[in-house]
Amino acid sequence: MNEANELDLERYRNKRKRVKKMKSGIMGFLLIWVLISTIVMSFLVYKVYSLQKQMNSILNGTKTTSLSSSSVKNIDSRLVQGNSGADEENLRAPDDVLKVYLTFDDGPSNNSNQILDILDDYNVKATFFVNGREDENSLAVYKRIADEGHSIGMHSYSHKYKDLYKSLDSFIEDTNRIHQLILDTTGQDCKLYRFPGGSSNQVSDTDMSQYIAYLNDNHIKYMDWNVSSGDASSSQYTADDVIENVMKDVVRYKTSVVLMHDANTKNATVEALPRLIERLRAEGAIILPITDETKLIQHVTLDK
Ligand code: ZN
Repeated sequence: MNEANELDLERYRNKRKRVKKMKSGIMGFLLIWVLISTIVMSFLVYKVYSLQKQMNSILNGTKTTSLSSSSVKNIDSRLVQGNSGADEENLRAPDDVLKVYLTFDDGPSNNSNQILDILDDYNVKATFFVNGREDENSLAVYKRIADEGHSIGMHSYSHKYKDLYKSLDSFIEDTNRIHQLILDTTGQDCKLYRFPGGSSNQVSDTDMSQYIAYLNDNHIKYMDWNVSSGDASSSQYTADDVIENVMKDVVRYKTSVVLMHDANTKNATVEALPRLIERLRAEGAIILPITDETKLIQHVTLDK
């Protein structure tokens, strides 16, 4: 082999080496890129999923009846599964009279007076879990609820999860505020509470047991629900949906606490109300306001 040929061969070898190096470089880069995209995608999917769950929970105030053991929050807390109304003792036998408690959350609103008018027309007493609003119309609504013999319960002043469930102090401050407003407008020392999102809500990043303990210590009863009208989940519901959602569950229980909403956007709930009352009565149900004697429906309770 002459020198020139040897040089060519050497160049050729070097070139092959460089190409090989470049190839493995590109492969490595691609591999890392795929790896990073996979991680980012998984993270995004997880984020979207948990956001969706949170949104549902906020909108529905969903009943998460079974406490998931994977929830660290609940393992650490003193909470145990409460009576969600589906307990054996509350299941209806054929001869049982149905007791139905209609509850309206999130008012006062522009719909409150219409709801009160309908209840008055049918001579039905219900329960209103109210938020704090101090405009003239709202103040009149609190008073009207009480004057017309309905029960009134606290549903927090702010209904803002982030503020309400920030700490025990913020919860107490909020509770005192709505309690005082009800006292000022109706003269009632209110001892009834419904947690925004229900006692089992997993939206707030705090342990619900401290708030439950506070209410217990102050002899304030909290009431969840065992029948949902479905009027919280979205605005895409009809009066027929409300009626069917309620009727399909109400027939299962001796005592039904029905979750409905008295908010500005819930016109279909107002529309459903007369027919719902008629259907309930046709089923032999008696419709009552929540009192001290009402069976408590609580999604979670404090472990004693
Ligand atoms: Zn609410």
